[in-house]
Amino acid sequence: MEGPVDRFQRTINYMRISVTDRCNLRCIYCMPDTGTIPIPHSETLRYEEIVRIVRAAAGMGLRKIRITGGEPLVRKNITHLIRLLSAIEGIEDLSLTTNGIFLAEYAEELAEAGLRRVNISLDSLKPDRYREITRGGDIERVFKGIEAAQKAGLVPVKINMVPIRNLNEDEVGDFALMTLSDPLQVRFIEFMPFSGCGAWSPERVVPAEEIQKSIERLGVLRPAKTKKSGPARYFAFEGAAGVIGFITPLSNHFCSECNRLRLTAAGKLRPCLFSDTEIDLKPAVRGCDDDTEIQRLISLAIAVKPEGHNMEFRETWLGKNRLNKDSFKSMSKIGG
Ligand code: SAM
Repeated sequence: MEGPVDRFQRTINYMRISVTDRCNLRCIYCMPDTGTIPIPHSETLRYEEIVRIVRAAAGMGLRKIRITGGEPLVRKNITHLIRLLSAIEGIEDLSLTTNGIFLAEYAEELAEAGLRRVNISLDSLKPDRYREITRGGDIERVFKGIEAAQKAGLVPVKINMVPIRNLNEDEVGDFALMTLSDPLQVRFIEFMPFSGCGAWSPERVVPAEEIQKSIERLGVLRPAKTKKSGPARYFAFEGAAGVIGFITPLSNHFCSECNRLRLTAAGKLRPCLFSDTEIDLKPAVRGCDDDTEIQRLISLAIAVKPEGHNMEFRETWLGKNRLNKDSFKSMSKIGG
């Protein structure tokens, strides 16, 4: 089965699931230093509820699941969830996005439970700057996490870096050069207007084109073939072990290829990261035993998935959408 097709002829076969909105870090561009008000535990989907939703979705043809958060590795017994999800018929790809702090402890058991791959968020290679950006994170633990993930076969390990003007943009070259000897997929993601802490402004966005140009000063980049699995455009230095990707939610929208739905930790299904439309699955999950009601709501989310978003990084954006930048939601709440 190919998966359900929406009204813009996109096959929707991918669900990103936030298992918690809590995080052990407080990245300065993602969360206020005080954190955000967490969803009460009683409102957070339980593992068996997530499994029911995924089983219903798999029955409709969804094939790919990514676990995210908040920080998914802070949720108790996450390996148990991975084991349950990997056993669901129809799920072909199960991956997880993490800040990597606890990964060295978990990599082997996650792989053994059926996890295929990990994405690790890392915005600086300098210990002091990493500590500043994450408000206290120890970069050595992330390096150990990357090593452990590779050793456990959670490959390719993807490193996600968000370059931000006057914060870490000077490090894009060092990140790119890591791919010469290490079989990593280093991906640069444009800074999007989410934060909930006023960190975003159009001037702080470093467009992918600019990042690519600065990397090309270090060597020739050629388009790289990778298993197509998302919105990144990939390149590689001649003879490099790894590849470099660019993800351009602002400068070059990829909505026409968007194949995903997002499930928040509170059980709300969001058809688009940039729209506030959400469909609450919790009443169906908690209120009735019949999975066809869950499937009906998933179909509804697919039916209302917008054709695209209109976000850009120009100054006009804020005015155009009449948004107050301090009102932006944090990615940790939506599930990054
Ligand atoms: N805790 C996990 C982690 O650190 O990967 C998963 C959740 S985190 C919210 C997911 C990703 O969202 C991270 O890679 C982070 O860099 C990214 N992110 C958060 N705010 C962002 C923003 N405003 N623009 C682009 N990426 C953002």
